[in-house]
Amino acid sequence: MIPDRLRAIRSRIDAACVAAGRDPADVRLVAVSKTKPSSMIREAYAAGQRDFGENYAQELRDKAAELVDLTELRWHFIGHLQRNKVKYVAKASAQLVHAVDSVKLGMEIAKRQPGASVLVEVNIGGEQSKHGVTPADTLALAGELDALPGLTCAGLMCIPPPGSGPESFAALGELFAAGQAQGLPFTELSMGMSGDFEDAIAHGATLVRVGTAIFGARNPVKSLVGALKG
Ligand SMILES: *Cc1c(COP(=O)(O)O)cnc(C)c1O
Repeated sequence: MIPDRLRAIRSRIDAACVAAGRDPADVRLVAVSKTKPSSMIREAYAAGQRDFGENYAQELRDKAAELVDLTELRWHFIGHLQRNKVKYVAKASAQLVHAVDSVKLGMEIAKRQPGASVLVEVNIGGEQSKHGVTPADTLALAGELDALPGLTCAGLMCIPPPGSGPESFAALGELFAAGQAQGLPFTELSMGMSGDFEDAIAHGATLVRVGTAIFGARNPVKSLVGALKG
């Protein structure tokens, strides 16, 4: 089941790359395993999947400890991160923290995990309810983060408002190109989920974060408990 779904998603990613005139090797699939048991991660890993995304800091810490024998596994922390929980993400040696939206958070990450790479979360739709910085503030924050000793700001991420996919992805793609033109060391553009990753790839995504389409629907009660535990 999981191997079949992974294969199907990967071939859709490859097709979207070809349609966009991009090299499929330039797009990584991050399998979003939040609320799902470690056994499912093992199954995906056995099928060749290496990048996994988690949203809740303690859940990441616990799974990283359980799965420490999977030596090629790369963890991505994709959720909103509070400063007092950075220690858990650092313990898991996350390869990339996707959703950084303040210098203070960046300082804590640099302190706990020197050499870490982060992305700036952009509130691309200007939604009140969402985390992330405004597009206007994005490149200044990226520059400040990248200037911190022990931290690299490797790019941008967004969660677009429902239904605004292509427009939001195009806007984030432009911001990403502007950052590169300013000399920021941007290599990763994290956008696109189960329902819209092909649109994101058309606009330059290098990391697509896919959960439901690989692991199935999440139990809403468990998700809520996870969110509260953060
Ligand atoms: C849960 C989550 C995803 C995966 O969403 P699906 O719709 O299940 O693919 C991607 N990105 C973030 C930030 C998430 O929280």
